[in-house]
Amino acid sequence: MDAKVRLGVSRCLLGERVRYDGGHKLDRDLLATLAPVAVFVPVCPEVECGLPVPREAMNLCGDPAAPRLIATATGLDLTEKLTAWAARRLDELASENLCGFVFKTGSPSCGLTCIKVYRDNGGFAETGMGIFARLFRERFALLPCQDELGLRAAAPRQDFIERALAFQHASIERPKGLRPEALPNE
Ligand code: SF4
Repeated sequence: MDAKVRLGVSRCLLGERVRYDGGHKLDRDLLATLAPVAVFVPVCPEVECGLPVPREAMNLCGDPAAPRLIATATGLDLTEKLTAWAARRLDELASENLCGFVFKTGSPSCGLTCIKVYRDNGGFAETGMGIFARLFRERFALLPCQDELGLRAAAPRQDFIERALAFQHASIERPKGLRPEALPNE
């Protein structure tokens, strides 16, 4: 295992131009803090499931506990495309020895909290989690996860690093079959 912790990161935070509008959301300050202690494992759910760059903006719609991913202009339902990809990708990530994940704030795919979920008539109903973030949290419930907004201040950033290091240490100590990433998906 690497001395550095392995962190999954939403690809756009690394400066990759994978966003729906063809841009990125490079977070230099965050990466400068994490890079000395971490190896990054980039993940972009929307591009990796086969959507183009640029692409339509998307919203979460329907049941806040299990929302659908809907393209805003065409109304195309992309939920199945994303969840089918996620099932395969989460299996791959289970063998990546991840010790944490940094998600992009505010994304209907990557957002950890407070993502607007719209009613089918277009009205705003409640907030929920992005589709990939929710599936990731269900699969890797013990893994430290945070979004870049939650890591803006020095104290939570340091706390996140320490939790990731503690997770790495516990994973080294734990027999392979008992590692959280080895637990079956419920
Ligand atoms: S927020 Fe997630 S899905 Fe959207 S561009 Fe960034 S990595 Fe890709």
